[in-house]
Amino acid sequence: MKRLTIVTGAVGILALAGLSWYSYNQIQRNKDIIREKKEEMERNKQITTPTADSSEIVAAPPPVTNSNSELTPSLAPPQPKETIDIDWNSPSYLTAQMPAKSIALTLDDGPSKKYTEQVLDILKQHQIQATFFLVGYRVKENCPLVNRIVREGHTLGNHTYFHPKLTKLNREEQKEEIEITQTEIKKCADKLPRWFRAPYGAQNETTLQVAGEVGLNTALWTVDTNDWRKTATSKSIADEVLKSQGQDIVIMHDATDANPKLKSPESSDTRQNTVEALKEIIPQLKKRGFKFVTLDEAFLSPSKPEVK
Ligand SMILES: [Zn+2]
Repeated sequence: MKRLTIVTGAVGILALAGLSWYSYNQIQRNKDIIREKKEEMERNKQITTPTADSSEIVAAPPPVTNSNSELTPSLAPPQPKETIDIDWNSPSYLTAQMPAKSIALTLDDGPSKKYTEQVLDILKQHQIQATFFLVGYRVKENCPLVNRIVREGHTLGNHTYFHPKLTKLNREEQKEEIEITQTEIKKCADKLPRWFRAPYGAQNETTLQVAGEVGLNTALWTVDTNDWRKTATSKSIADEVLKSQGQDIVIMHDATDANPKLKSPESSDTRQNTVEALKEIIPQLKKRGFKFVTLDEAFLSPSKPEVK
C-alpha cells in the first residue's frame, strides 16, 4: 500500500512537472512572437518617415519633466481625450447617439475561413455592413479575407493579437497586444482600425488609456447573443437580437475560440448557428424598418478624415 502511494505520488509529481514545463514553453513561445513583432515594428519605424498614421500608432503620453513631476496627479491638467469609450457604465448615453431604429452588428474573433466567408456572403446579399473585430494572428493567417471585409465596405476593429485577458497583463503588455495587431492589419489591408474591443469584455482603466494612446475608440456591446455557448441555437441567437428596439450594438462571433488556453467548457466548437441566425435576423429587422450601421457610421463623424 505504502509502495503504491509512493508510486502514485511520483507519477503525480512527474505529470505536474510535465504540465508546468508545457505551460512555460507556451508562454515563452508567445513572448518570443511578441518580441519579434516589436523588433519588426522598431525596424519599420526607422525606415519610414513619420506620417499621420505612424504618429497615431506611437502617440505616447507627454514626457514627465522635472517641473511636472512636482505636481500631484490631482493637480495635473486632465488629458483631453479624442476617442470614445462605449462600456457598460454608459451605454445608453452613447448608443442614444445612434440613429433611431438602427443596429450595429459586430463580429468578433475572426477572420476564419469557415465562418467569415459565409457571414460576408449573407451581408452582401442583403447589402448591409457590419463591424469585424479581428484577432491579430488570424489576420496573418487569413489576409485575403481581411481585404474582402474592407472591399465590401465593412468597418475593421482590433481585438488583440493573442486574445488574452488584458486585465491580467501590465500596461506594456496590453499596449503590445494592441499595437502589433494594428501593425498586422495595416500590413495586410493598408488600413488602420479605429475601434478596439477587449476580449471577454475584460478591460480596466489601463486598457482604455492604452487604446486611446493608439488612437482607438473602444466598444463593448449592449446585446449579448451568447452565440459562443454550446446551449445556443440559431433561434436563441436570433430571438435575442429581435428583442431590440434599435440603438443597439450586438456581439456575435464569426470564428471559434481564438485562445484555446482560455476556452470555457461552455464554449461550442461551431459558429454555424450564428451564420444561420443572421439569415433570420437581417430580413426580419429590415421588414421592421431597421437600418444596419457600422460603428464608424454610428459614432464617428464623417467629417473626421479616415485613417488609411
Ligand atoms: Zn473575442
